[in-house]
Amino acid sequence: MVSEFMLQQTRIETVLPYYGRFLKAFPSLLRLARAPLQKVLKFWAGMGYYARARNLHAAARIIRRDLSGKIPATKEALLTLPGFGPYTAGAVASIAFNQRTAAPDGNVKRVLSRLVNAPASAPSLERKRQLEFYLEDLIPERQASGFNQALMDLGAMVCLPVRPKCHLCPVRRFCPFTTEEKKKGIPPERRRREEIWAIALIENKGRFLIHRQEGKGLLGGLWQFPTLVSSPKTGSGPADDSLPAKRTLRKYLRDRFGITTRFRNPLSPLRHEFTHIRATLCPYLFSLAPGKSVAKTIPALETRWVKISGLSRYPISRAMTKVADLLNAERQ
Ligand code: SF4
Repeated sequence: MVSEFMLQQTRIETVLPYYGRFLKAFPSLLRLARAPLQKVLKFWAGMGYYARARNLHAAARIIRRDLSGKIPATKEALLTLPGFGPYTAGAVASIAFNQRTAAPDGNVKRVLSRLVNAPASAPSLERKRQLEFYLEDLIPERQASGFNQALMDLGAMVCLPVRPKCHLCPVRRFCPFTTEEKKKGIPPERRRREEIWAIALIENKGRFLIHRQEGKGLLGGLWQFPTLVSSPKTGSGPADDSLPAKRTLRKYLRDRFGITTRFRNPLSPLRHEFTHIRATLCPYLFSLAPGKSVAKTIPALETRWVKISGLSRYPISRAMTKVADLLNAERQ
């Protein structure tokens, strides 16, 4: 369950160290269910897509409360739990419980579409149904776990998107994928949305303002420096060192946090990539205006003044860690 949730949107090489640390912190489903969400998010911090951590935690609590602590063994039952889509439910049911059910991840779909010569031009729904039909039919009785994992590994290591290693492939005898198609089998690079993150580092007596991100969005539940996100196309955000840019950010801090600040200087911009977003992080250093403090006008907003050395006690994203490291380096 843990590995499938982690792998939903993150590559295996990235997941591996998180997976080890996560299992050490939560060695059983019951320990995970009993842990506070903030602790779970802390061990997820840096991997992104935090809805997965919230769903995993919620699923563990439901299993403990309603299912006597036993993870359901069938795809249908797993689908009723938070965070389980058809792929994750199929993967857990087949890999962990050896149920004869399909788990078509991206690698498996590529192997199959080449093996059954599914036309790339077919409408995606029709293509998907065709592949699932073949896959369900192919899974051998009592060997679903090994079969599904073998297909996944074949796609990950041999039947690569570009230049598949057909000479090593155990199923090459059956494969109609032509040399010409192999040359064309280059998937278009996943497009990422460009964003500009204007990040306010507001210092007050050696401490900096952070707040807990509300909602269930990209970084929901994590702590961060106040950040104003804009798209480079709109030109509406404070993406440079110009006077309007500083004004926009200061106005945001006043409206959102009820604080008055004094601009000090910008820090060097940084790049940070999420799966679907390419962000330019633009940190700006501010001081709290003398005699001012965070107003108590926004009760829903959780805020803290923390030393940079104390940030590690909070679950924060990798993007914010990069900014904190930059701030540390510039102050030395
Ligand atoms: Fe993929 Fe080549 Fe094997 Fe066909 S023969 S399944 S294209 S690796």
